[in-house]
Amino acid sequence: MKLANSTTTAVSLIKASLKRIEETNDWHIFTFVDKDAAIKKAEEIDAKIKKGEPVGRLAGVPYALKANFLSKHRPADASAKILTEFISPIDSTTAEKLEKEGAICVGCVNLDAFAHGSSTENSYYGPTKNSADRSRVAGGSSGGSAVAVALDCVQFATGSDTGGSIRQPASFNGVYGIKPTYGTISRYGVVAMASSLDVIGFFTKSASDLDLLMSITAGQDSKDQTTLPDFYGKDDTQLTKKCIGYVKEFMNSPALDPEIKSALESKLTSLHSMGYETVELSMPTLEYALAAYYIIQPAEVASNLSRYDGVRYGFRSGDLKATDNKTSIDLLFENTRSEGFMRENKRRIMIGNFVLSSGFYDAFFLKAAKARTLIINEFDKAFERVDAILSPVSPNPAFKLGEKVDDPVSMYLEDVMSVPVNLAGLPAVAFPAGKNKAGLPLGLQIIGPRRSDKNLIKITEELV
Ligand code: GLN
Repeated sequence: MKLANSTTTAVSLIKASLKRIEETNDWHIFTFVDKDAAIKKAEEIDAKIKKGEPVGRLAGVPYALKANFLSKHRPADASAKILTEFISPIDSTTAEKLEKEGAICVGCVNLDAFAHGSSTENSYYGPTKNSADRSRVAGGSSGGSAVAVALDCVQFATGSDTGGSIRQPASFNGVYGIKPTYGTISRYGVVAMASSLDVIGFFTKSASDLDLLMSITAGQDSKDQTTLPDFYGKDDTQLTKKCIGYVKEFMNSPALDPEIKSALESKLTSLHSMGYETVELSMPTLEYALAAYYIIQPAEVASNLSRYDGVRYGFRSGDLKATDNKTSIDLLFENTRSEGFMRENKRRIMIGNFVLSSGFYDAFFLKAAKARTLIINEFDKAFERVDAILSPVSPNPAFKLGEKVDDPVSMYLEDVMSVPVNLAGLPAVAFPAGKNKAGLPLGLQIIGPRRSDKNLIKITEELV
């Protein structure tokens, strides 16, 4: 991290960031730029430095918030029309912790509305473009965060990962991304997607920056009852086995791009020379992860999105003329939700309500929950043998804008290698692994047992 100090002012760091945001306007990264507030905050930090007063571990560092992180004074609408007029009464715990250490938010960045997607094309504001090729997708749902870091608009950005939304855009844009152990970082003040899967994490340009951000933000929060007591700073898990696994079923998948496969093989060779043993793992239940995810996640989405009714949050449809068979309150709910949600949000609400409905619950939701347990057990068994698992993040590099947006199943297949990690609540670090012949970034992920987040960062640091 480049910090403000006696030679570099916070104002100069923020001005450079704001200039870069302007220069990269064509990528369509930011949905809101907080220029005046950012400069004011930078001036306050510079004044402290001048007086010799202590400043935090992120003094003057410009960062971006994924627009599903709520802020009292910034529009944070999760790139969804239904939240566009919403003014949050709270700040997210994560932003509070970062800003206490002197980080300065320069604005909010684009995502798939409500974080539903793998390309950032489902945004109410239109897509963010890939950092290396503007005809391709940024990945998603945290596309804006990944591209903001890749193109040096900010030194880091926040993200949320329910099924790959940090790791996949990180890998499409050649930056680092962490999906921590479930419950490591407070989700208070972040728009909920699927609560048993959602985690908060970061995008950076180095593994050591991930470590710094984790040490600042990890820990229990009384406002989020799913947070774990802080283990990150006190991590005493050791890489005792000196053994890294790779998943046979992923490596043999016909969907896996050959250049990603060879990037992974070359990392296995590097691991060997670093003194690790590498072993092939057969994990046949991972095949069911995508199907289980696309039942559990929409079920939780349907429940979390039921609160948007035109009364309590943001946008309200104006067309409320009662008819013979509909009252104006019916129309308020119906029209607000019809106009305010994107197509993909509606698809998930419908699937979610279907899999939870009486008569279908046993056949779908319950079965998916059982499959989830089998996946958790399979990972636990693998970690009896290996310290961590090296895996592709997604089967392919960034695809063309528009290529999958009308074909939800092919979009969902993007997540086949990322969702098992969320279902099992495990930590994973996505890191850059070179570029393909066309110059597109390739990414891999290293997955570990719960609470091994720091070890994964350590391995990544050695490996890249
Ligand atoms: N692409 C996945 C989905 O659309 C994951 C999204 C996320 O992690 N927020 O569900």
